[in-house]
Amino acid sequence: MEYEPSAKELAHFPFLKKAGEKVRTLPPVDRLLDEKRGSVIKDLASERINQALSPGKKINSHLETLPEDEIAGYVLSRIIVSCIGDRQILDRLARYEADRAYAFLVSETGSEDGERGWNENVRFEGEFSPLAIYLAHEFGVDITRDHVPLADYVEISAPLHETRFKLVNRVVTRGRVEIQPGERYELLRERIRVILRQDLPYRNIPKSLCEKVGTLSEQIRKKYQDRMLENFGAVEEGAFPPCIRELISAVTSGANLTHPGRFSLTAFLHTIGMDNDHIAELYARSPDFDPEKTMYQVGHITGGGGTEYTAPACAAMRTTGLCIRPDKICETINHPLSYYRRKKRQKTSA
Ligand code: SF4
Repeated sequence: MEYEPSAKELAHFPFLKKAGEKVRTLPPVDRLLDEKRGSVIKDLASERINQALSPGKKINSHLETLPEDEIAGYVLSRIIVSCIGDRQILDRLARYEADRAYAFLVSETGSEDGERGWNENVRFEGEFSPLAIYLAHEFGVDITRDHVPLADYVEISAPLHETRFKLVNRVVTRGRVEIQPGERYELLRERIRVILRQDLPYRNIPKSLCEKVGTLSEQIRKKYQDRMLENFGAVEEGAFPPCIRELISAVTSGANLTHPGRFSLTAFLHTIGMDNDHIAELYARSPDFDPEKTMYQVGHITGGGGTEYTAPACAAMRTTGLCIRPDKICETINHPLSYYRRKKRQKTSA
């Protein structure tokens, strides 16, 4: 018989299909927001997004609100970020949900430092709880096996940065990659992140609903923008990651950059606060420099065409051959912007 997650379990993993069924028994979101519990749900959604956007996340596995409200808070948080429509906020929320799910999976029965587990009804039939097996199955991962098909492994592990996940460091036997028990939740976390991100932003949210959460969305957006300014602030060239330094050195020495090179450099410099004129000036030494064309291209990447592009993550940089001479800090981050933020903070506190 198929496993039936309890209401409490669904509150911990509100993205499960069964949680969706539960929330469908509630009134529609816009009506829910007018009810007394609406403010509780708004607070839960706002707390979720704020946690996702804050650098030091706190994940409390002992939930204190009603399961239905918790699930509705999850749904509302996704609606709000969809209304905001900022790619980085969407990415962060998906990552937070995956991290949160991982934290709950490893603390079902308690943590190593003696914290009581959140799931008092958990019954293990083997190495993993029925809930963990059920959840993994819904995401297409079989955590009961110590190997995964090579194609699945390559797909799931591609964005993972740590060298232990690289295929050359894995044992591959007859088209299957061996996975240690502790790593299975890590792969599952990554799969959850990717799938939750794929659904965002929701495309069919009524305008009236976005307006209804407009004040909250604006507060969140503003807070995030302020935090970004605080993090990035004045451009600090000494904190650039090796890949970006390499691109700048190539362009200033008169080399033509490839299209992915131009795109990555422009998007990176734009995100850390460099204005379009300064970015365009960098390209002035390129042999094929054309001021008008360069301004157009820079403007297009930085939002002039309606879409503001984000600098690619390290995984994408590796794919396009732009990850050059990674250093020690690179081993601990997944994104050139994280590198910059961390190094800049180190330099400020030094
Ligand atoms: S690991 Fe990331 S930050 Fe470091 S050089 Fe490669 S792409 Fe750049």
